[in-house]
Amino acid sequence: MKISLQGVSRLFDGTVPAVDDVSLEIGSGRLVALLGPSGSGKTTILRMVAGLDFPDRGTIRFGDEDATAIPVARRGVGFVFQHYALFPHMTLAENVAFGMEALKPKRSRAAIAARVEELLGLVRLPGLGARFPAQISGGQRQRVALARALAVEPRVLLLDEPFGALDAAVRRDLRRWLREIHDELGITTLFVTHDQEEALDLADEVVILKDGRIVQAGTPADVTRRPGSPFVLEFLGDANRFEVSVDGGGARFGSAWLAAGGVPDGRAVLYARPRDLAWSPDGPGLPARIQRILDRPDSRRLVALTPEGASVELDAPPEASLRPGENGVLAALRWQIFPA
Ligand code: ADP
Ligand code: MG
Repeated sequence: MKISLQGVSRLFDGTVPAVDDVSLEIGSGRLVALLGPSGSGKTTILRMVAGLDFPDRGTIRFGDEDATAIPVARRGVGFVFQHYALFPHMTLAENVAFGMEALKPKRSRAAIAARVEELLGLVRLPGLGARFPAQISGGQRQRVALARALAVEPRVLLLDEPFGALDAAVRRDLRRWLREIHDELGITTLFVTHDQEEALDLADEVVILKDGRIVQAGTPADVTRRPGSPFVLEFLGDANRFEVSVDGGGARFGSAWLAAGGVPDGRAVLYARPRDLAWSPDGPGLPARIQRILDRPDSRRLVALTPEGASVELDAPPEASLRPGENGVLAALRWQIFPA
């Protein structure tokens, strides 16, 4: 089921739109992530796709059908929220079966029981149907919530920060798990998160929102390799920012000269991620002094100070023998320049 939004806006108080002229397409069977900071309009978009809220302008289509004409019950949408309250007094099986009781034509008890067991198997919790929500972990509860959303065989799956309340290791597991289930079922999925790593790991396509507008959309490779604005670049991960002046198609970076990639002459900002800077004892680049060394499992992060007092972070090979206080040069291996 392909979903398309065309020029969708939502104005709650009539002044600042919560969702502002959003057009996007979620191809059939794709997993698309809506990524943006808190308040950027993600939940509002999801609620409008679900039919729980309505656009003030624009259209939402399910396939070729105008979604506003389809009542919520017939939209065929499965929804999982961050704090999905499973009914605490019901077993997991009863929770999963809940939505199926209302299905038409009515299913037999045996058919429902068989489907519940199948769904618990799908979310890798086979045989746990008799337990109660309090007897399983938070991560397992979100899996049951997904089984419950899938019980009615939705055409579309909507997930609003489903792993937001869980700790980092569990989130990473669930991410992989969700991707596997998605690939098994091939169900069109819209996934909301403010966590860029989660979006980039999980989605076929990432739609980045700011203040209710789409600022960039593309595959994870597209948006990470070619962020279209300082906002996207900074939002997607750690980056050092330098104010530079572009002159004759390049900018000075200490004693080095870096191509400005078509940015016109004048004031500009240069970004380089920690992994895109290298430390060397001398050579062309920006002079700096190592202030701190942070040892991490897969890298060493150096915090260096430039003579102007700017703090710069860069990654060094774990085996490099470096000391705080050491003077050297920052060389830019990759960078991106935007007009100021
Ligand atoms: P996100 O999910 O990205 O955090 P939301 O879609 O929840 O963002 O909110 C987007 C904006 O719309 C916010 O400024 C929020 O305060 C506002 N908003 C959301 N729901 C309502 C509502 N029911 N009434 C008024 N304002 C709302
Ligand atoms: Mg939200």
